[in-house]
Amino acid sequence: MLVVALTGGIGSGKSTVGKIFAQLGAIVVDSDQLARDVLDRGSTGFNEVVARFGDAILKNGEIDRQLLASIVFKDPIKRSELEQVTHPLIRKAFADVLARSSPNAIVINQIPLLVESNHDYRFDHVITVLASEDIRTQRLLKRGLTGDQIRQRMQAQATDQMREDIADSVITNEKEEQELSSQVNKIWEQLLSKNVSK
Ligand code: ADP
Repeated sequence: MLVVALTGGIGSGKSTVGKIFAQLGAIVVDSDQLARDVLDRGSTGFNEVVARFGDAILKNGEIDRQLLASIVFKDPIKRSELEQVTHPLIRKAFADVLARSSPNAIVINQIPLLVESNHDYRFDHVITVLASEDIRTQRLLKRGLTGDQIRQRMQAQATDQMREDIADSVITNEKEEQELSSQVNKIWEQLLSKNVSK
């Protein structure tokens, strides 16, 4: 088994790259999705977050994720309280994926905040997707985000240099998707041989 991290700034193309890897045969997990799943209504994470943050965090019986995000964005203590609940659950959810996967699988974890977050995951290979801020902004505007939202998120994230420093492979996604696909195919070949020779 090869356990791979896939990171990149918002709008760089992580999800697009993840989809291509999935088509090639990888098991692809999105850590943002795991982070949402662990707060689903009635789950352990849901109960613990409501116990700590109170009923005010609920909207129609569900945790209001936007409200929760805006609270912890401004308050590092609350943020760490939330992470004390969610991080072990997210880690467990990923461990469950690994336990269910074949011993020969290549498992790719999309982690936007790989550089920023304190984690103790061990990866056999780290892939970083890069694109200039201009190009990322154009893509995100098309996706419906406002200029302010984009700037705020980019400022809260690490720099491309930091993501590049931890990478074993770098994908530059500034051209058309076909060119992206050919870069992903080349890295897939490398992952296959790394998996065999492990
Ligand atoms: P991320 O997951 O890193 O935030 P996405 O993969 O969601 O980025 O890509 C952001 C947006 O840009 C999406 O709408 C996606 O379809 C588009 N996109 C990604 N790569 C390309 C590309 N090479 N050419 C054109 N559009 C792209």
